[in-house]
Amino acid sequence: MRPPVDAFVALGSNLANPPAQLRRATIALGRLPDTRFVAGSRWYRTAPVGDADQPQYLNAVVHLRTALAPYTLLGALLLIESAQGRIRGPERWGPRTLDLDLVLYGDLVLDDPRLTLPHPRLHERRFVLEPLAELAPDLEIPGRGRVLRVLMDLNPATTG
Ligand code: ATP
Ligand code: CA
Ligand code: CA
Repeated sequence: MRPPVDAFVALGSNLANPPAQLRRATIALGRLPDTRFVAGSRWYRTAPVGDADQPQYLNAVVHLRTALAPYTLLGALLLIESAQGRIRGPERWGPRTLDLDLVLYGDLVLDDPRLTLPHPRLHERRFVLEPLAELAPDLEIPGRGRVLRVLMDLNPATTG
């Protein structure tokens, strides 16, 4: 088995009872094979990104310690999304029952459209950085600096 690494998953929902979606997804993440659930952040109500004409989001971050390979973990996240009714429409950043992004997998850097690590928009998203800072303020985001620093350096005028 691979040595376990710290992985952080961002959860988002704005359809079909977001609290129930996050609760169910958190349970599913805790049941992943070869994976230990370390901690979950509080849940944050946030304004939508992209099309503003959609319901508010509920966002959170979960800390896992996992021996799953990165693409295996991503595959598992996409399966949990599908099981919870996620349908990808043509519209980018449209409303969704559940979105699970792998934002960090140890200090792995990957430049693959199927799996980019760290998540390419992590450093500019308050709705991910804030719950992440709650769990791991001193964690290094490869190429960007520590989580709390990156959060504090966000421009309040340009981020949600
Ligand atoms: P954003 O990526 O800006 O948060 P989104 O979450 O709405 O947008 P999706 O439609 O959920 O985007 O995902 C599109 C594709 O992104 C997925 O099929 C997946 O292969 C790819 N992807 C690349 N890097 C990652 C990552 N770190 N975590 C999750 N998916 C990723
Ligand atoms: Ca996303
Ligand atoms: Ca996604």
